[in-house]
Amino acid sequence: MIQLIRGFKDILQPEAGLWQHIEKEARKLFEIHGYQEIRLPILEKTELFARSIGETTDIVEKEMYTFTDRGGDTLTLRPEATASVVRAYIQHKLSGTEPVRKFYTIGPMFRRERPQKGRYRQFYQIDVEAFGIASPYIDAQMILMLATLMERLGVTGISAHINSLGCPDCRPRYRETLTAFIEARKEQLCEDCLRRKDKNPLRVLDCKSESCRKAMAEAPELLDELCAPCAEHFAVVRRELDRRSLAYKVDKRLVRGLDYYTRTAFELQTDMLGAQSSVAGGGRYDGLVKALGGPDIPAIGFAIGFDRLVEVIAQTRPPEEARPEVFFIPLGEKAMEKAFDFCMQLAEKKIAAEADYSGRSLKALMKRADRLAAPRVVILGETELQKGLATVKTMASGEQEDIPLENLVERLSLP
Ligand code: ATP
Ligand code: MG
Repeated sequence: MIQLIRGFKDILQPEAGLWQHIEKEARKLFEIHGYQEIRLPILEKTELFARSIGETTDIVEKEMYTFTDRGGDTLTLRPEATASVVRAYIQHKLSGTEPVRKFYTIGPMFRRERPQKGRYRQFYQIDVEAFGIASPYIDAQMILMLATLMERLGVTGISAHINSLGCPDCRPRYRETLTAFIEARKEQLCEDCLRRKDKNPLRVLDCKSESCRKAMAEAPELLDELCAPCAEHFAVVRRELDRRSLAYKVDKRLVRGLDYYTRTAFELQTDMLGAQSSVAGGGRYDGLVKALGGPDIPAIGFAIGFDRLVEVIAQTRPPEEARPEVFFIPLGEKAMEKAFDFCMQLAEKKIAAEADYSGRSLKALMKRADRLAAPRVVILGETELQKGLATVKTMASGEQEDIPLENLVERLSLP
């Protein structure tokens, strides 16, 4: 038997129902806030990710699915969506007429990581991006929208973390201080950090290895060295979250893995998924549009880890099997045709009805009705049919009544 690829997964029912529910709530919320859906390709030129995500990130260094296609182009299965959204924004000159654009996109991402709970090689993200707004109000709006989505989905056990990563005015100065701090402790760093400390010292703060964490415990903090405009920006974000009573933690260790982030960075964290604590992450990336050849336009976005969100919700609220509202048991060929008609009529009235056409016995089909847990079962027996009647059984009470066929659809439309 051929099995699926390691780190990939099938999403079956009833879990898929939960995915649909989340997606529906997300779309509704984002659209009210003026975000519109875009759909982008899964495959892009490798260069797009190398340039936007950064050569020294884990993603580009070791996680991308990259291959040469038959025409000789180097292509990559997208590891995240932001790069493609920015590419599309630039390519279609979306900044031209109206630079403020708000998008969301939902779909699979690919990273060749070690598969474990909450970490897959094909996983899904709900990605949200806003272009053309430099003001901190949009930062606050995004964080609040994310929190509202969690609330609507009944998610518990998640906390919001925020930080500021500064800008090209204040970060370089901090980078120097940090580099000096790191140099003095380089014996304690892991191999990865030793390699990337010169190109991307902020990443050392983010390293999960025990020895790096220890070495960096007393590291200088960027938040203390922000320039005045960055400090003001962060203060407004905090003020707006406070004004709406959103609980959050200022987390000075929160640095995004990606090079292009500026100012606000945020993350939703959980302790319900073992080591995989991050359910959603995002932040500002004011320099990216320009870096990819577009105009100098600020932007901000976040991505929700769809798989992880599902897993968090499923822990407190197991997904329910879908069930038909009405289950028809036709006995005999004539009855089957009637059952078929009724199912079609009920579907028009948006009532989920299901019939069994196997021709098995009443006893066998009553068992199936129990398994399906349909609240109402309609038995179409030969003698009843001849009298123009159907037997409607309400499963919860065990009550049974004979209903004239011409009244059946109406009767089943009532609660
Ligand atoms: P982590 O630190 O857990 O590796 P990350 O910083 O790589 O996360 P991002 O690139 O910010 O994650 O992606 C946004 C979200 O996508 C994460 O918060 C997480 O929920 C989800 N995610 C990232 N990688 C995976 C994966 N391999 N499998 C499932 N979900 C993932
Ligand atoms: Mg990662």
